[in-house]
Amino acid sequence: MSRRAGARPTPLDSRDRPTRVLTLAIDLGGTFARAAVVDEKSALISVAKMVLLARTPEQVADVLAEVAAEALRLADNPKIDHYGVAVAAQLESDQGIVTIAPNLGWKDIPLSALLKKRLSAPVYLVNDLRAAAWGEYAAGAGAGVDDIFTVVVGSGVGSAIIAGGELLTGVTNVAGEFGHIKVATEGRLCGCGMRGCLEAYVGGHHLIAQMKEAVQSEPTALAALCGGDLDSLSPVMLEEALRLNDPAAHAIFERASSLLAISIANQITVLNPARLILGGGVLRHAPSFVRVIREGIERHAGAVAARAVEVVTSSLGDDAGLIGVALLASRPT
Ligand SMILES: [Zn+2]
Repeated sequence: MSRRAGARPTPLDSRDRPTRVLTLAIDLGGTFARAAVVDEKSALISVAKMVLLARTPEQVADVLAEVAAEALRLADNPKIDHYGVAVAAQLESDQGIVTIAPNLGWKDIPLSALLKKRLSAPVYLVNDLRAAAWGEYAAGAGAGVDDIFTVVVGSGVGSAIIAGGELLTGVTNVAGEFGHIKVATEGRLCGCGMRGCLEAYVGGHHLIAQMKEAVQSEPTALAALCGGDLDSLSPVMLEEALRLNDPAAHAIFERASSLLAISIANQITVLNPARLILGGGVLRHAPSFVRVIREGIERHAGAVAARAVEVVTSSLGDDAGLIGVALLASRPT
């Protein structure tokens, strides 16, 4: 099983440590890989970024080794104590295996072993949303509380749960797959192959797909906003069309936002978190969703849980994952 969280690894906790602990952290996304040298106080000493031009495990491992070398070079090649990689995937962390990574088209890839060959060190793997949640918990929007529910709505939809100061993994390490809870019995087809998933209505790719369908089937301000170029449609344009009181945009938004809001409210009822941390490009570019989420919690979550939860937005941005994976990789076992 995955390692359990110990005491909160805040920068304050480590202030008195006599020696510096440096971690090489990598955030492997679907398009880019970022690497950073991170110290025990969550400070990023250096950051490097590279595009993933190829998708085979060996090729990606080569890019990760390259971006790691660049981050090390920018930090004047310090001695590294720990290595960690956050990846948008389901994992068997203890075995260092990526079981499913939809963005990369991977199944059962021994990523830790591929990287150990290149970096000559053991490499800790963690799911990217859990890494980001841990980063926010330690040094960002989750500071000061031990019960956190994070929801990220970007091209996909995901979540991570910190309960009593521990990351919730579940018995087979797939807890928190919030994008794939079902919100309709016979609904839209999701990228996971199932129908009616929340992500199939709210995820950025699926919002854009619904906007395209609207432009192709009815008069809508979205057509003018994208200048006829359907491939340029984005959540920003959905927000703009809402401001123009466009009925088609409203229909898409009403359904997506109400499904998202009631789904989050239900999780608030179940988990009773102190803080809900919202992140991801869709919520950043279409802030009307955040308003509906707040209203949904008030209307639909259990009254005591609704009163207790504070709704905030992520504060570390893209660095949350790097900081989180660094802290997790360097945590005492
Ligand atoms: Zn799904």
